[in-house]
Amino acid sequence: MAAKDPKIKTLANMTYSALSTAFPDSSCSLYNDCPQNLAIRGILSAQCTDKRVNITAGDLFAKYPDMESIANEDPEIIAGIIKPCGLTASKTKSVIAFAKKMTGEWNGIVPNDVELLMEVPGIGKKIANLIVGEVYGTPAVVVDTHCKRVMKRIGITESDDPAKVEKDIMKVFPEDSWIRIGHLSVDLGRSYCTARSPKCEECPLASFCKRRI
Ligand code: SF4
Repeated sequence: MAAKDPKIKTLANMTYSALSTAFPDSSCSLYNDCPQNLAIRGILSAQCTDKRVNITAGDLFAKYPDMESIANEDPEIIAGIIKPCGLTASKTKSVIAFAKKMTGEWNGIVPNDVELLMEVPGIGKKIANLIVGEVYGTPAVVVDTHCKRVMKRIGITESDDPAKVEKDIMKVFPEDSWIRIGHLSVDLGRSYCTARSPKCEECPLASFCKRRI
């Protein structure tokens, strides 16, 4: 397994350093105005662009400024608003379930607890990690499609399974870099290490990337 090789830690250090230099302003591209709104943006982000999520969530929060109003709304009306994000039926259920948790047992506080967050249908490990990381600064790796692709190409992991990729990253990157390495991977995946036509010639990792050399 790639992450057991001690050289992988060196590779991880080089990767983090090069990406931090290339993307000094790297951050989450979902708006983060408050914890519950970020969580709902996270729910809406499945198989959707962050740009679209930010627009659609803005429409939702303009009409429903608090969790009570979302929890008590007719699901069909919520569905009509969030439809541009796709997966409408499941995301509607998830948004309303989250709002009900917030107005019920969570007493208005988004939990800093991945397992609790994953009790909401539609919130998986990736979104739960995003929430605890962005809201509380709790070290957690968000393995999205960019992160998965980039980490495999570089040689940090050999797996396509997000859970395994997350573990491989956690083994070799320092804990205080876990949140940021997710953002940096997204930046690289969007700009250089694209799925179909990676721009290896210009990539900041070209000198040591496993796929490149
Ligand atoms: S060198 Fe190419 S394959 Fe490697 S990370 Fe950069 S763009 Fe991706």
